[in-house]
Amino acid sequence: MDINNSLVSRFYSQIILEDFSIQDQENLLKKEITIIGCGGLGSPVSIYLAASGVGRINLVDPDVVEIRNLHRQVFFQEEDIGEFKVDVLKDHIERLNSHCKVNTFKSKSWEINFNEYSSEMIFDCSDNFRTKYSLNEACVNNNVPFCNASVSDSDGQIALFANKVDSHCCYNCLFPENGDIDANDCAEAGVLGPTVSLVASLQALIGLKYLLNKFNDTETIFRVSSKKISIEKNKILSNSSCRLNKL
Ligand SMILES: [Zn+2]
Repeated sequence: MDINNSLVSRFYSQIILEDFSIQDQENLLKKEITIIGCGGLGSPVSIYLAASGVGRINLVDPDVVEIRNLHRQVFFQEEDIGEFKVDVLKDHIERLNSHCKVNTFKSKSWEINFNEYSSEMIFDCSDNFRTKYSLNEACVNNNVPFCNASVSDSDGQIALFANKVDSHCCYNCLFPENGDIDANDCAEAGVLGPTVSLVASLQALIGLKYLLNKFNDTETIFRVSSKKISIEKNKILSNSSCRLNKL
């Protein structure tokens, strides 16, 4: 079976969409993306992207699966407790789609050498501000698109910053660093599993569309409320006093 026949048989339901083509499917296979944080957001995001046909996925997370994760991190099972999350996900993805190549990094995100791989997009699925700010800075400085998401209580938010060479608008423009960035980690707030899954699905969808040049809402924040069952979107403006704004 040639590559086109094999793609059509596997991804038939995607390819027949009006705004999706076999060429898009071939392009996805050539994409390499990195997912930082493999918990409630990162595990479904990585599985959806692998199932959709992304060719290479780097998974970064230093943690092992714990019993308290299982109510929202539904790709992990009781038998995985004590195993590294990246190892469990890699195994799951490779059994799901053997054409997807997975690299794992059992490190904290700010200890990763981003030059070790040529990722086309960073997905921030972390649960702490230190990671979000350090990833944002690395992505701005290297002009790498940054797909950020977070969830806390009944609220979630997603934003994709393109980080193009000739314009500046970043996570730091929206949320300037101040005070103790190690305080108020999202991990400490309560959350329902389906709320996390809703935000993760949107993050995966937005990232997928951007990878295929089909996403026009960069530098826009999508605010999700699972209490009101609503999604609001607002344009993010560049902040001239942002310390990362070198233009
Ligand atoms: Zn900025």
